[in-house]
Amino acid sequence: MYDVIIVGAGYAGAVSARRLADKGKKVLILEKRNHIGGNAFDEPDDYGILIHTYGPHIFHTNSKDVYDFLGQFTKWMPYHHKVVGNVYGKFIPIPFNLNSIRLVYDEDKANNLIEKLIKEYGRETAIPILQLRANKDEDIKELAEYVYENVFVKYTGKQWGVKPHEIDEAVTARVPVILTEEDGYFTDEYQAMPSEGYTELFEKMLSHPSIDIRLNTDAGDCIKLEDGHIFFECIEFNGTVIYTGMADELFDRCFGALPYRSLRFEFEHYQKDSYQTEAVVNYTVNEDFTRITEFKKMTGQQAEGTTIMKEYSLNFEPDTDMIPYYAILNDENKALYKKYNALAANYENLYLLGRLAEYKYYNMDAITKKALELCERMV
Ligand SMILES: Cc1cc2nc3c(=O)[nH]c(=O)nc-3n(C[C@H](O)[C@H](O)[C@H](O)COP(=O)(O)OP(=O)(O)OC[C@H]3O[C@@H](n4cnc5c(N)ncnc54)[C@H](O)[C@@H]3O)c2cc1C
Repeated sequence: MYDVIIVGAGYAGAVSARRLADKGKKVLILEKRNHIGGNAFDEPDDYGILIHTYGPHIFHTNSKDVYDFLGQFTKWMPYHHKVVGNVYGKFIPIPFNLNSIRLVYDEDKANNLIEKLIKEYGRETAIPILQLRANKDEDIKELAEYVYENVFVKYTGKQWGVKPHEIDEAVTARVPVILTEEDGYFTDEYQAMPSEGYTELFEKMLSHPSIDIRLNTDAGDCIKLEDGHIFFECIEFNGTVIYTGMADELFDRCFGALPYRSLRFEFEHYQKDSYQTEAVVNYTVNEDFTRITEFKKMTGQQAEGTTIMKEYSLNFEPDTDMIPYYAILNDENKALYKKYNALAANYENLYLLGRLAEYKYYNMDAITKKALELCERMV
């Protein structure tokens, strides 16, 4: 009856479903949660404030194709995301830029530093802090130390549960100081929010006569893999299966569990118009949570009162109701993933797609692009 069964109704699953349905395929989606949208799902809370249930999602891309594809299902509301770091009570733009320097140092020292940096690296450049730390100039080195200590190291420790010496140098190398006066978290050409929210975007994307959705349905209960054959509800299924759940779970964790970081969210509502200056404030040196998101500032919603969310990072424990959010990418874990991927390769019509199935981080635009490309190849 179906040409394709898709496990998961997040970006990977929903984009694939829509593209394949548009190409004439009959698609069934199995989703274990009671809603579509995966981690991008949003909904009004008890106070009518639109919240992002699984953490703040801001759309940004340089791909016009992706922007236009998703734009069929939503109007885009331009939104330029800014983040500040709370460093011992001072609010500093992140990524660290010329405005941040002026906030941290007195006028003379800041001007002197900015002059030296621009002379050496040029305006509008992004310099990794490892490079700044290697600079011979004592003032520049001091700046690099400040950023490393107060913006990066404790925050990264909270996020990944690691000690400073356990942080890969390659990760540190990517943290930049940007020689610009433009505050902004992303540099992509298109930066926007779906005007009516992500859930509505998904509802429109999946509203197609050739797409059926079964919510509250765990694929583990109805799909079985055996000796190169796929069975759906005990009958051999010869169509295509796109699986966007955890790769280890698909094979009963036969080689062991793939490690992930999870998140815990605490929501608070306030009867005031505004809680903080920007949508997201990172707590880079103190507090146990990593950041506070104030949703109205991101979604542009006009409403009385405001809802915020505190985000705590912790290790994922399999077989609990925790959600795996971030793959912990190191050589050992990548090697473990490869074993599961090799098992999947024994099933000709099985495709692993998405942040869980591929054990990697994708932004929303990147997974949309990947799903569109996969469907192009399949048809
Ligand atoms: C806190 C956080 C913030 C983020 N912010 C941004 C951002 O600002 N901008 C951005 O571009 N990206 C952001 N992302 C990334 C974004 O969430 C991902 O790109 C996107 O979720 C990937 O989609 P996916 O379909 O691969 O995974 P998911 O969204 O996780 O969807 C997978 C779906 O499969 C279902 N599923 C799993 N196993 C089974 C099973 N056995 N049976 C049935 N269903 C199953 C799950 O319930 C889920 O609905 C963020 C991610 C996190 C964690």
